[in-house]
Amino acid sequence: NCIKVFTDKCVGCKMCESACPFNAISIVERLEHRKKFKLAVVDLNKCIYCGSCVQACKFNAIEFKKDVPQSGVDKNLYRGVWIYAEQRHGEVSNIVYELLNEGKRLAGKLGTALSAVLIGVNIKSKAQELINRGADKVYVCEDPIFAEFQDDPYSGVLTQLIEKEKPEIVLMGATNIGRSFVPRVAARIRTGLTADCVSLEVDPETRNLRQTRPAFGGNIMATILTPEHRPQMSTVRHKVFKEAKIEEGRKGEIIEYKIDVQTLLNRTRFLGFIKDTNVVVNFAAANIIVSGGRGLGSLEGFKLIKELAELLGATVGASRAAIDLNWIPSSHQIGQTGRTVAPKVYIACGISGQIQHMVGMGSSDIIIAINKDATCPMMQTATYALEGDLHEIIPCIITEIKSSRC
Ligand code: FAD
Repeated sequence: NCIKVFTDKCVGCKMCESACPFNAISIVERLEHRKKFKLAVVDLNKCIYCGSCVQACKFNAIEFKKDVPQSGVDKNLYRGVWIYAEQRHGEVSNIVYELLNEGKRLAGKLGTALSAVLIGVNIKSKAQELINRGADKVYVCEDPIFAEFQDDPYSGVLTQLIEKEKPEIVLMGATNIGRSFVPRVAARIRTGLTADCVSLEVDPETRNLRQTRPAFGGNIMATILTPEHRPQMSTVRHKVFKEAKIEEGRKGEIIEYKIDVQTLLNRTRFLGFIKDTNVVVNFAAANIIVSGGRGLGSLEGFKLIKELAELLGATVGASRAAIDLNWIPSSHQIGQTGRTVAPKVYIACGISGQIQHMVGMGSSDIIIAINKDATCPMMQTATYALEGDLHEIIPCIITEIKSSRC
């Protein structure tokens, strides 16, 4: 890396000094040929070559060159999109079907195959299910060591498989299991991993995966690339994509991957499995969700939401504002720090539609918004936008439903 200040261009205006976030640049007075002048001087121990000073300088007096690290990876050797087919006690998780749908689209754009990886015991029978949902190939790794999820053997086998087959993209659910073992795989292969993605795209020319996720506390959406390394790995949030449709009898290849379990490290011992019996809100099965936000005005407002939900056979959701106001328990929260949902109908009552809420419900088939501000993001996004006071609109809807059933 190299940074240079041109003495003939620098006027000592201090713009660079105030722009530098690292206090790495200061203006000093110099004396040359009996003439005093001011000059920017860079402290190389503090400079991280971020380029802020170069941008701030109006006199083109600073120039810098940053060495781009080269990975030495031959990207042409890597082809194919892979989905990690997470299963728990032999049941494939729904997120896998969502990933197969998106994986198929990405693979189509890249003109490559879509593969799934099943790791477990007695799970080969599930491979055809994955083919029916769009996988062209399914790698099956079976051994009693995989009977219960443990980080070490699972990350070991997936690492070996990736090193052997060299896929260019590997996707998995941002579930407890995915979040736990996939960073280990990425670190072993020395590649990048983008966690909690909410949108994916590929550039067919560079074959780079554009991985979008909330960043800086959810205040921005960051699109992250892994341009120098392969594979490109992402975990994806639940319900961001629709499930792949079933095509019965679809043809595909099932490859049994024989592994020498002696080569797998295992530093933990599985003692037992205790099921969480806490009551959770069942958003996964909900076709209709009626959600309330700050616009409800009070705890009483939620009575309206609950009444409407009950009439429609719907589940009750909420924005974080309503949770923070203690109007409803946090298990009902939808959004970036709550649950991601994709019902057939999402009814948002008094919710403005900030990005942190939208990432949790934006994939709903039909969005109905009730809000007195027609310009708020939720009303702009909604399939049907009902403008007005929810305390007037919701009781009208309730009366209408009740009278239609009489
Ligand atoms: P507001 O934004 O205050 O909107 C209230 C709406 O009600 C307004 O549009 C108003 O016009 C309307 N209204 C008011 N009175 C009436 C009436 N009588 N009739 C009809 N309409 C009315 N938020 C989430 O929801 N989920 C998350 O997971 C989440 N995670 C976050 C994570 C981070 C890191 C951060 C920083 C924020 C997060 N938030 C989350 C908060 C988010 O930014 C918003 O603050 C929140 O979603 C706002 O909730 P709201 O729409 O209910 O309230």
